[in-house]
Amino acid sequence: MSTSPSLNVDLHCHSTVSDGVLAPRELAARAHANGVGLWALTDHDEVSGLAPAAQAAHDLGLPFVPGIEISVTWAQQTVHVVGLGIDAANPVLKAGVADIQAGRVGRAREMADRLQGLGIADSYAGALRFVGNPNLISRTHFARFLVEQGHSKNMQAVFDKYLGDGKPACVPGSWATLAQALGWISAAGGRAIIAHPGRYHYTPVQFGALFDEFKDMGGAGIEVVTGSHSVDQYRQYADVARQYGFMASCGSDFHSPSESNKDLGSLPPLPADLKPVWHDWV
Ligand code: AMP
Ligand code: MN
Ligand code: MN
Ligand code: MN
Repeated sequence: MSTSPSLNVDLHCHSTVSDGVLAPRELAARAHANGVGLWALTDHDEVSGLAPAAQAAHDLGLPFVPGIEISVTWAQQTVHVVGLGIDAANPVLKAGVADIQAGRVGRAREMADRLQGLGIADSYAGALRFVGNPNLISRTHFARFLVEQGHSKNMQAVFDKYLGDGKPACVPGSWATLAQALGWISAAGGRAIIAHPGRYHYTPVQFGALFDEFKDMGGAGIEVVTGSHSVDQYRQYADVARQYGFMASCGSDFHSPSESNKDLGSLPPLPADLKPVWHDWV
């Protein structure tokens, strides 16, 4: 079937099994209520939300795509690679994400030590109160604790002052390589998508090298319309998709009703000439 131009597609969001605040079935209900007609759950480095999400979507008659967002280090910065249409039971993928998760606890302890040095006590226990899945403690959970304790007025302010890349309490994660992430996604039968390219702080030469490498390794596409991009960036990354022959994806990156600036299903459609990553799924 061809893709209807009116189909509301949202292929990027987070549940309580990573750093979102809604359970997988609550997200399914919210996506459905907001008019989403094709939905993916893409938790960070974790697949355990996919079975309940698929069940809830099925019960609602909402077409569902199983996904993941894998943390990758490339050229000393973090890149997020979304895998769509994955088999969540694939052992290669499961072993890969288990490796990433194993590094998160030690990193979180180190971030808590740094926050202690900045005069903020007990942040490890504090962050844990916001964690829905003990295998997946992230900067987001620390940020929620810091906002709760009045150290910053909102999440963005926490990242600007303490936890953003290069800020004093940010400890780099021990993430996958790009080749590993693409290998795991491919082993699980999925399509690899570079998430929110507009968020990375690479030089133009580095961006070119990232897109070339990603394409050479079998990467399928990039997010063009995402909650992390401005309207200018929709245009900029649509041009990148055309230039590299990438498929295009669309997702809100919704985490929380009170924190996320874009709700599930609230994004505009992709430019009509781009090939949607879901073109043969609907
Ligand atoms: P981690 O995987 O522990 O490095 O945490 C990364 C998560 O932090 C991202 O997935 C976002 O949800 C969140 N995050 C990163 N930067 C910001 C920011 N500037 N404002 C709000 N949330 C952010
Ligand atoms: Mn997140
Ligand atoms: Mn991301
Ligand atoms: Mn995300």
